[in-house]
Amino acid sequence: MEFQTWWLLAVPLFFGLGWFAARLDARQSAKPAGGLPDAYFRGLNFLLNEQPDKAIDAFLDGVRIDPETIELHFALGSLFRRRGETDRAIRVHQNLAERPGLDAAQREHALFELGQDFLRAGLLDRAEDAFNRLAGSRYASAALRHRLAIAQMVRDWRQAIDLAGRLREGADDPAGALTREIAQFHCELATQSLAGQAPDRLMAAGREIAAALQADPDHPRPLLLRGELALAEGDAAGAVEHWALLLRRHPAHAALVARGWLQAHLDLGRPADALPALSQAHQEAPGADTLTALADAIQQQQGTEAALAWVEAELRARPSLPGLEKLLALRKALGAGAADSDTELIQRLLAPQAGQALRHVCGHCGFKARQFYWQCPGCSRWDSYPPRRGQAAEGAR
Ligand SMILES: [Zn+2]
Repeated sequence: MEFQTWWLLAVPLFFGLGWFAARLDARQSAKPAGGLPDAYFRGLNFLLNEQPDKAIDAFLDGVRIDPETIELHFALGSLFRRRGETDRAIRVHQNLAERPGLDAAQREHALFELGQDFLRAGLLDRAEDAFNRLAGSRYASAALRHRLAIAQMVRDWRQAIDLAGRLREGADDPAGALTREIAQFHCELATQSLAGQAPDRLMAAGREIAAALQADPDHPRPLLLRGELALAEGDAAGAVEHWALLLRRHPAHAALVARGWLQAHLDLGRPADALPALSQAHQEAPGADTLTALADAIQQQQGTEAALAWVEAELRARPSLPGLEKLLALRKALGAGAADSDTELIQRLLAPQAGQALRHVCGHCGFKARQFYWQCPGCSRWDSYPPRRGQAAEGAR
């Protein structure tokens, strides 16, 4: 470890020593200045000589002598954790938590810090155990939040539903964030069931979708899943019915079902019926995915010229790089492959930029991905991805 970085740790300790010296001063008669300052100076000396483990031992020695210096140890422990030295933070906090003579509040504080150390170190089981032991304490709600985060990390959605429900009972949920998360957890279970092999997988998925809708009737994901479930049941008409509701209520989410919507209508033998509702959703929430899906459908149903005319009008109304790319591809198709060299050159120049524009961007942390996620892989927030690609981040829903 570099010498300079240790000064960062030393500065708060000097403050602590100053505070401690003042206390000693005030109680000179009650307790003569004996071995305690020695322990601290010894610890500081080790610290400055880049021997942090010996320093910890010396500081822990100090606690043994005078439990009133505990706050200093909490400061030391959280400094270690912030610096990513979780094993040292764990040692400090574990020692505090197990120390006899601590009052209940201090012991709970140490346990809460210890839980966070384990979490930071990736020791999820031990973190969970520490947070578990804080039920009923003044850290109960914060510990529950950490346990909820752990349940999501290990994708234990049942546990997540239970914990979020308990949190919602105990705390206020003004923005409805917990309610939306509970709906998402049910949707995760439904998605798992749909993708699984269990004989009752469709029934199970249906139950979870119903629970999600009950938790948050206006969330787009259960509506989307209801359509997918209908398709899995071989009921294309049912899928169309559910997705029609989604397109009306959440037009931006048309981007996620556009292809499935067109296919379901094709399966039903009435492809033309797919266009009005999808066009309407695209008008309300224009995006690259609905634009290309509509252009392809028009090309299939009415021919390349009709598709080209539609894309041209669309581009005049809302210029976009993916739209321009589609226009050039259609022009090339219309020329039966005999495209002029200019068009090909423009297409080549355009491709990387159009690709860049085709990203989903998290409205919270800015994480970019080609794929859509309900939970951001960067910041773990739910509903922070706009469903439309190539759109400026717009936050939740
Ligand atoms: Zn994010």
